[in-house]
Amino acid sequence: MNALTVDLEDWYHVCGAGETADPMQWDAYESRVTRNTHTILSLLGRRGVRATFFVLGYVAEREPELIRAIAREGHEVATHGHFHRRIFEMSPAEFEADLARSLDAISAAVAGTVVGYRAPEWSIRPHTTWAFPILRKHGILYDSSMVPLTRMGDRSYPRLPCRLATAYGEIAEFPLTTVRCFGENLPFTGGLPMRLAPYFYILSSIRRLNERGHPALVYVHPWEFDSEQPKIKLPWSRRFMHYFNLAATPRKFAGLLEHLRFASVREVLGV
Ligand SMILES: [Zn+2]
Repeated sequence: MNALTVDLEDWYHVCGAGETADPMQWDAYESRVTRNTHTILSLLGRRGVRATFFVLGYVAEREPELIRAIAREGHEVATHGHFHRRIFEMSPAEFEADLARSLDAISAAVAGTVVGYRAPEWSIRPHTTWAFPILRKHGILYDSSMVPLTRMGDRSYPRLPCRLATAYGEIAEFPLTTVRCFGENLPFTGGLPMRLAPYFYILSSIRRLNERGHPALVYVHPWEFDSEQPKIKLPWSRRFMHYFNLAATPRKFAGLLEHLRFASVREVLGV
């Protein structure tokens, strides 16, 4: 069983994009998240798959009916923070306030306890592990934000689900799935890496992991199902990362749903 995750955010929630960075402007932007999420929900519904939706608190405030629709279909509702701020750009107090606001917004939209968290842009760094006790203090039982890459998280991070001790009790971690290649860890199960990797390579790599008894973590965003979305001005490398080959996501996502078994993170971790 593999974990299927959706980072529930809209087209303008791009970390570090000056043009759309100010949350005070967000209400003025066209909302496309509901329509795009319904595309994902219908693909999941057709295969009877339950996933985890890491919901941005801001989206829960703006589109509470969407969060209710997700929960009604039996998916896990978890948090992606409130204003999509990277952890390393916040102080511990700011992080705690952002987390608490997202939990309030989600619980105003749907009943049930939120036990999972994913940081915007996988932004947990070795110098921001102070976030774990804060998460646990607020009832979060698992995190899925660690990336074992030099470029994003840290190469020393775990590559498989594990447990971390905090002052408030243990928290489970489900890191981004990678493959070992020439001594490096390479991502391939979501975002640009999934859009670039050949489908047979993604499928066979996950199957190899499953044969060894390990689950993989797959992730998508609603905006990856929307090739008509307004394009934000970004530096070329980020533009490539964000928009290149968007048409590949729905195709590969549907293929993985057909060929592999998936469940929510909570179910896979058993927390
Ligand atoms: Zn995000």
